[in-house]
Amino acid sequence: MADKRDYYEVLGISKGASEDEIKKAYRSLAKKYHPDINKAPDAAEKFKEINEAYEILSDPQKRANYDQFGFAGNDPNYGGFSQGFSGGFDDINDIFSSFFGGMGGMGGFSQSRSSRRSSSPRKGEDKFMRLTISFMDACFGVKKTITLNVDETCTSCKGSGAASPSDVETCNTCHGSGTVISQQRTAFGVFQTQGVCPDCGGSGRKVRKPCPECSGRGYIRRKTDVDVDIPAGISSGQQLRVQGKGERGENGGPNGDLYIEIIVQPHDKFERDGRNIYLDIPVSAVDATLGTTVDVPTIHGDVAMKIPAGTQNGKQFRLKGKGVKEVNGSRIGDQIVTVNITVDTDLSRKEKELYKQLQEMQGKREGESVWNRFKKSFS
Ligand SMILES: [Zn+2]
Ligand SMILES: [Zn+2]
Repeated sequence: MADKRDYYEVLGISKGASEDEIKKAYRSLAKKYHPDINKAPDAAEKFKEINEAYEILSDPQKRANYDQFGFAGNDPNYGGFSQGFSGGFDDINDIFSSFFGGMGGMGGFSQSRSSRRSSSPRKGEDKFMRLTISFMDACFGVKKTITLNVDETCTSCKGSGAASPSDVETCNTCHGSGTVISQQRTAFGVFQTQGVCPDCGGSGRKVRKPCPECSGRGYIRRKTDVDVDIPAGISSGQQLRVQGKGERGENGGPNGDLYIEIIVQPHDKFERDGRNIYLDIPVSAVDATLGTTVDVPTIHGDVAMKIPAGTQNGKQFRLKGKGVKEVNGSRIGDQIVTVNITVDTDLSRKEKELYKQLQEMQGKREGESVWNRFKKSFS
């Protein structure tokens, strides 16, 4: 079957051929190779091939299957078919939904997929939640307590759901396997599928007398306080895992885990990028010209910082070790301070006078002013 020829090639037409073209091609080829007319030794074989190609390509559904999956699309016995099933497709239901519009034949397969759960212990699904913390809590770490509903294995029956171990018996329908075999007709032929036993729900056993503690469920839903240690240096989007606080495990399997995505609220002054903190500070023109010392706020408290004479707007200073600790290490970041030279618009009369004097002096001074140097650069 490996050397089977492409159906379009067999009929000598293009992939985009119309129904009419297919019909025409088939008629002329069928006439040519009909065993009653053509006595060549391979005519019968050719005739069969032509008919098969026409059977598929003349049926819009079969043709679509063929276009998508090749020979396997319409022939369950074709080698490629089972290959496709075992490894070629991520989700068998995708194929079925594309063929059957998401209904009908799917049941057997989705059941057979989930039948793996049957009676063996299975870890529960993971849960996800988001937790918003303040900027400072993210910098220094914080302990948060969250209240969750967690299904815990019933201690009285140890999860069996039975009043006593002798109240557990093997399911008669599936004889303890948890699965039943059923046959199913689909467009590809008859399939044997394995499904979850409807009688015991896949556990393979039945409980005669349910545990009074948990009403036979095997678990008890409890409001549980979970302490979450949020480490210093965490950033928005990072996740913490809390073991065993996810969805309930099945058949004695462990619970899933809880994943907490951290959202860090922004600060209205500090900005943070990983370990480093950024802060803009306003500096008056006079302070920038003559130099000064300012107490700069940091997340660790105020730090005295020298602003040298002649500091320009936008100049950055680094305060070593005044940033945030690395979340998975010991290095500590810095605070980067950007000078924002700010013109004071709220001057006293005296200040205004002094500025005026300064302006006049600059106009008469021997060296050139900033403005004159700028103008000169144009000529
Ligand atoms: Zn119980
Ligand atoms: Zn059963």
